[in-house]
Amino acid sequence: MHCPFCNQTDTKVIDSRLVSNGYQVRRRRECTACHERFTTFEGAELVMPRLVKRDGSREPFNEDKLRSGIQRALEKRPVSTEQTEQILSDIMSNLRATGEREVPSEMVGQQVMEALKNVDKVAYIRFASVYFSFEDLDDFAQAIAKLER
Ligand SMILES: [Zn+2]
Repeated sequence: MHCPFCNQTDTKVIDSRLVSNGYQVRRRRECTACHERFTTFEGAELVMPRLVKRDGSREPFNEDKLRSGIQRALEKRPVSTEQTEQILSDIMSNLRATGEREVPSEMVGQQVMEALKNVDKVAYIRFASVYFSFEDLDDFAQAIAKLER
C-alpha cells in the first residue's frame, strides 16, 4: 500500500489485530521511506439490505447517515467514539443477519433506540423525540414512562 504522507509505494505492516468482534482487521503500517505510521481497516464488503420507507419508496442503506443520527443523539454525552462505532456495527450486523434484501426503515430506528436505551438515557430520549417527532408533551411523557418501566 502507498504511503499517504510521501506517496512511497512500499509500506510495511507493523501490527495487525482483530477488531469489531473479529469482523475487521486493524493494521498499523509504517512507511519504509518517511517512517510515518498510519492505520488501515479491512473488512468484508457485504451488501446491506435496502430500506423500505413508510411511503413504500426504497433507499439504499447509508452508513454515514446512520452514524450521524447516532452521533447527534450522543452529542456531549459521556459515550466514547468506540462505543458509538460498536453500536453502528452491531446494528449493521443485525440487519445483515436478517438475510433480507429489503427491510422496513423502522427496523433501523428501533434498533438504534434499543441500543441507546442501554447506553445513555438522554441520548435515547433525544433520538426518540426526533424519530417519533413528538407532537405534544403526552407523547414525550409516554416515552419517558416507558423508560422507567
Ligand atoms: Zn512515507
